[in-house]
Amino acid sequence: MIKKFYPDLIADNVKKIDLNYLLENNIKGLILDIDNTLVPDYVEEAGDDIIKWVDKVKKMGFKVCIVSNATQKRVLKFNEKLGVDAISRASKPGKKSFLRAIKIMGIKAEETAVIGDQIFTDIYGGNKLNMFTILVKPIATKEFILVRIKRLAEKFVLAKHAKSNQKRT
Ligand SMILES: [Mg+2]
Repeated sequence: MIKKFYPDLIADNVKKIDLNYLLENNIKGLILDIDNTLVPDYVEEAGDDIIKWVDKVKKMGFKVCIVSNATQKRVLKFNEKLGVDAISRASKPGKKSFLRAIKIMGIKAEETAVIGDQIFTDIYGGNKLNMFTILVKPIATKEFILVRIKRLAEKFVLAKHAKSNQKRT
């Protein structure tokens, strides 16, 4: 059924998620995706803003566990400064890693919120276990489009440049 793909909440980015609303709804822990949710997929380390946000989340009393389909190397590097529980090569939307995460956090599925940028992995996986699911806008797409526009602009400039050189010679 299509409803299995619907997130319970949509946010522009993780920092825009109303954490008090989650507390009010008995959410005790967060499962976090990395790529395009916390950082663009080409960024290796957690930046200051994400470190601060995770700190705030923990201070509010939430448990935190990273669940990523990325390699162990990627996840370890990203988690270096955060130092939270983390599962790599998670095979989302499979249930196994989500179940492992809630076991680590010591909470029930219905007390867990999954935060991610992908409907068919993060949201679908969380919904299968009746977790609260939050879809964020993928970070990199925006950058990717901007980079593409920039490249296009560069191409345009270079083409013009080549033409003007031709005229001179
Ligand atoms: Mg992702």
